[in-house]
Amino acid sequence: MTAAVLYGKEDLRLERVAIPQAGVGELVVRVGAALTCGTDLKVYRRGYHAKMLKPPMPFGHELAGVVEEVGAGVTAFKVGDRVVALNSAPCDVCFFCRHGQQNLCEDLLFNNGAYAEFIRIPARIVEKNTLIVPEGVPLEFAALTEPLACVVRGLEESGAKAGDTMVVIGAGPIGLMFMHAAEIAGVEVIAVVKREDQIEAAKLFGAREVVHVGAVPDVVAATRALTPAGRGADIVIEAVAVPATWEWGVDMVRKGGVVNFFGGPPSGTKVKLDTNRLHYGDITLKASFHHTPATCRTAFELVTSGRFKCAEYITGRAGLDEVPAIFAGMMHRNGSARDIKTAVFPAGGPR
Ligand SMILES: [Zn+2]
Ligand SMILES: [Zn+2]
Repeated sequence: MTAAVLYGKEDLRLERVAIPQAGVGELVVRVGAALTCGTDLKVYRRGYHAKMLKPPMPFGHELAGVVEEVGAGVTAFKVGDRVVALNSAPCDVCFFCRHGQQNLCEDLLFNNGAYAEFIRIPARIVEKNTLIVPEGVPLEFAALTEPLACVVRGLEESGAKAGDTMVVIGAGPIGLMFMHAAEIAGVEVIAVVKREDQIEAAKLFGAREVVHVGAVPDVVAATRALTPAGRGADIVIEAVAVPATWEWGVDMVRKGGVVNFFGGPPSGTKVKLDTNRLHYGDITLKASFHHTPATCRTAFELVTSGRFKCAEYITGRAGLDEVPAIFAGMMHRNGSARDIKTAVFPAGGPR
């Protein structure tokens, strides 16, 4: 079969490799759709991911497909089932798992290789994080479960509730998912976007107000002015991953509010925060990483409910042979708002 294999920094190759076989407890899934993701781009740029991927390794982690082979002992799935298999599963026995923080599992098992005709799903993911896709839900929609599960967890951890005002800084795929999931939950969203062409996307996904960074002299003041009584936002979500926007987050939140640093800058990055503001403002600083089996299920429900505008997130369609060129293109282009996610269809499929 054909698979995209990451060899290192900006070195992604299409290769002929053996079709995987299902061991005990495992599945082999024929990939129906795999989605491009900002995390993949980050890994492509750096050439590795400390937790998820060491090259050379099959690439891609957001997928849904059809069960092709069922390993011994698997009873929950049969050949022909349409499934979404998440990119990780926790051990459920380590310290963090036992303390309800499965996203921080010391033995989190990752699976990569979505940009391929087939993918092997390890037993633990089969057992804990593989879900049957209802009829009528396209596989490329189901594949949105993974990024949305991270977003759902970020919202829950920030304590977002109906009527709150939330600032979302950044209008990449994750920022746009935060806006939409928050809007569905009844939260008033103010988007802070870098490029003019992102204004429309932010509005489409539920932002009530949009601050265009290039169009205002002072982004913090312009954003605060849009919050009730200019107090600042109840919650700020940072989804850009640079020090300046981390600092904006603290400057845009109200007293007693929560800032969630959702974007992960490279290790070693430092930020400057006003201690006075943090202390006397009683501000909660929070960061969120990854998802748990529970938030995967919440996200899956949202994706399959029809309430989430899945189709609007999939702005490109491609075949497997185009994957290396897609990543090279993502690297060297600033991207556009119409460019949210590309669905890769290894078997042809809807184009
Ligand atoms: Zn992803
Ligand atoms: Zn664990």
